[in-house]
Amino acid sequence: MSLGGSVSVGLCASCARSEIIRSSRGSTFFRCKLSDTDPHFPKYPRLPVIECAGWSEQMPAKPDCQANLKPSLE
Ligand code: SF4
Repeated sequence: MSLGGSVSVGLCASCARSEIIRSSRGSTFFRCKLSDTDPHFPKYPRLPVIECAGWSEQMPAKPDCQANLKPSLE
């Protein structure tokens, strides 16, 4: 993934602990949620992140979960 075609994001793009922040001016930032609890991780990592001990795989979306949460009409 890249930001505006000029900056590569690296590992944060596929990390479950990243949060995409979009400013009102159209800029995009990757916030590291792990920084909330561990000061070793910067809130806004310098991109691209090539190596990271905190990287965690994103869980794939499970469309069946939504169906299971709907109340039964019967
Ligand atoms: S844990 Fe590492 S890879 Fe994941 S969002 Fe934070 S800096 Fe990026």
